[in-house]
Amino acid sequence: MAVLICEKCGGETIAFEKCSGCGKKICRKCVKSQKKLHKLDRVAICRECWGRMGKRGKFKSAR
Ligand SMILES: [Zn+2]
Ligand SMILES: [Zn+2]
Repeated sequence: MAVLICEKCGGETIAFEKCSGCGKKICRKCVKSQKKLHKLDRVAICRECWGRMGKRGKFKSAR
């Protein structure tokens, strides 16, 4: 299996989550929060974007 590199911390991961704030592909450790949308879709947000009110609001209103 290919090992992927997190765009946030540079660590290795086997599965990415995409941050809805900055659009970076981030590893599990960098995900601050994530939620399920309809069916298979999911959104995640990184710690950095969580600290920015505008981006956090966008994450919360995603559906
Ligand atoms: Zn990371
Ligand atoms: Zn982010």
